[in-house]
Amino acid sequence: MKWTVLGCHSPYPGPGGATAGYLLQTANKNILVDCGSGVLAHLGKIMRPDQLDEVWLSHLHHDHIADFFVLQYAILTALRLKRRSRPLLVRTPLAPHEWADRLTYHDTIAIREVKDGDHLKQDGLSVRWYRTDHGVPCYAMVIASEEGTILYGADAGLSTDWEGMIQRPDLFICEGTYLHRDKPSAPMAHHSVREAAEAAALIGARTLMITHWFPELDPQEIEAEAEAFFQGNIRVAQSGLAVEVI
Ligand SMILES: [Zn+2]
Repeated sequence: MKWTVLGCHSPYPGPGGATAGYLLQTANKNILVDCGSGVLAHLGKIMRPDQLDEVWLSHLHHDHIADFFVLQYAILTALRLKRRSRPLLVRTPLAPHEWADRLTYHDTIAIREVKDGDHLKQDGLSVRWYRTDHGVPCYAMVIASEEGTILYGADAGLSTDWEGMIQRPDLFICEGTYLHRDKPSAPMAHHSVREAAEAAALIGARTLMITHWFPELDPQEIEAEAEAFFQGNIRVAQSGLAVEVI
């Protein structure tokens, strides 16, 4: 399995950057996980958007779905050009309703609703969805194949039950939305970089990828804060960074 970062910023993209979006590639599938602002521009360096097999949306906040609407223009164009014959399969929560109701553009997508505890097995891949502690229904994903395991943490507050999801994942993609010194006094339903590192240590992750970081932060500072609280491999997400789980 190959996990390529298309966007890693939040809540808005920095220059040349993008908010949340990742390409998961298996032997026979190309799956887009979240589709934030600027993600399609980075996806286009790897493949055409209409070559995607599926899209998995963790939740319906703008920094995870902004480009999802124009992605459907790409699918519609491909259908009309007969480059593609079927709608794009989208696995997503369907709340809040005011956004879920606006997701579909013409007949470009086929939606499968995702709920807590759902389990999918297909093409040698096993995926489980777990609700995180966030303001709207939001789902972490445990993705497993013969090659290894990936935990995508989506957006998550500190009450998220990481230990109930998986132990010792090969790759844990966890949000580190701010440095710990900048942590807001009110609960934010997010992790600081330090808290992400502590969560990775708690579940014994092999590699921690810090993502969903504020675009004005210095990646070296993010890495240094994570290193102080986690002994495994650390990668700071950047558009174009790819990690293989083999
Ligand atoms: Zn977010």
